Amino acid sequence: DAPQPETTELLVRRRTHLAGAQKNYYAAPPQIERGWREHLFDVEGRAYLDMVNNVTILGHGHPRLAAAISAQWLRLNTNSRFHYAAIAEFSERLAALAPDGLDAVFLVNSGSEANDLAIRLAQAHSGARNMLCLLEAYHGWSAASEAVSTSIADNPLALTTRPDWVHAAVSPNTYRGAFRGPDTAASYLATVKPMLETIDAGGQGLAGFICESVYGNAGGIPLPEGYLKEIYAEVRARGGLCIADEVQVGYGRLGHYFWGFEQQGVVPDIITIAKGMGNGHPLGAVITRREIARSLEKEGPFFSSTGGSPVSCVAGMTVLDIMAEEKLQENARTVGDHLKARLAALIDRHPIAGAVHGMGLYLGLEFVRDRTTLEPATEETAAICDRLLELGIIMQPTGDHQNVLKIKPPLCLSIESADFFADMLEKVLQEGW
Ligand code: PMP
Repeated sequence: DAPQPETTELLVRRRTHLAGAQKNYYAAPPQIERGWREHLFDVEGRAYLDMVNNVTILGHGHPRLAAAISAQWLRLNTNSRFHYAAIAEFSERLAALAPDGLDAVFLVNSGSEANDLAIRLAQAHSGARNMLCLLEAYHGWSAASEAVSTSIADNPLALTTRPDWVHAAVSPNTYRGAFRGPDTAASYLATVKPMLETIDAGGQGLAGFICESVYGNAGGIPLPEGYLKEIYAEVRARGGLCIADEVQVGYGRLGHYFWGFEQQGVVPDIITIAKGMGNGHPLGAVITRREIARSLEKEGPFFSSTGGSPVSCVAGMTVLDIMAEEKLQENARTVGDHLKARLAALIDRHPIAGAVHGMGLYLGLEFVRDRTTLEPATEETAAICDRLLELGIIMQPTGDHQNVLKIKPPLCLSIESADFFADMLEKVLQEGW
């Protein structure tokens, strides 16, 4: 059905005064007004299954989180230069979640801020400016985090407008990259080494390397086996620091691991987190080693007005409590494994379904026109997402070719909801697009 006139009118108002670069999902989006667990409801009372929301890990409208935030707002909220219990307690809990040795925490408000600060730390600690990153990556919108973002889906000019201190390595995409399959780390490294040698020859040193420890923006694709071990060693040999952007893939979403880097058997020097840690409340953090954190002290105090506020810290701690009590990482594993198996079964029945990437509740279903050439099915993916909306499912494409379904629902997703998604997807693939 066509949207109500009020919904269309509100969209016109949104597009008039909200600066144009801030796009919304869908040409004719539903106007949503309520959320509950993995469900969203529009103003006409229609329910949607939210399969794309990687922020609301506990689910929408969690009453206990709302109550904790509300109570803290009434009691105290202020900036982080004051002395209050929540900031000490939350930093302690984040440090305890990180590998040994990473126990210095900075609290900020978003993933962009966390990555910006991580890059600044790497540059301050190493005394160098050059950063190595990956192609087809997204790390944020702020100056430094945007500089190391190379995804052309997010910025079509990305490949020609990076500053000279940014060096983007060949996309280690084990599905459609230059080298395919899990045993390709050495081949990819052979393409990175000449870049590192060029940086060496420039004489200005290497500050660090930033990447998602599961290749998230490209569609949740696992990195080649041993890739991070080898590249981290090269970076460290040059005095650079290794930053793991865990904004999307970390914090329990992978189900089988709390951190994405565990899958690669490495420990980074700096971890950045955001999104799920606040379940939608603006919250981000950098966790690093003490001596790295100290390197910023020579530049003066670091201060973020609302980063680490009492309300933010209480929100963050309540999210951790609820995750533990509701066993959400475990749910991500069991429901995610079930969903992955259901999606994998589609590959046998539908030629367009090329591969299922990822694990836990971080999955990517990649659509191709041809399984040999892997020609991306970009327009088909958009049409499939539009049809899924009609069937009551929120789903969006990801990756440079916009041909991968980004399946990142709240971690409380039930088996029934996972089955509904798989059933509706099968229906769309049977119907055609
Ligand atoms: N890193 C990654 C991997 C992300 O996916 C995002 C957001 N999509 C960011 C960083 C930036 O986070 P934020 O939007 O909270 O600034």
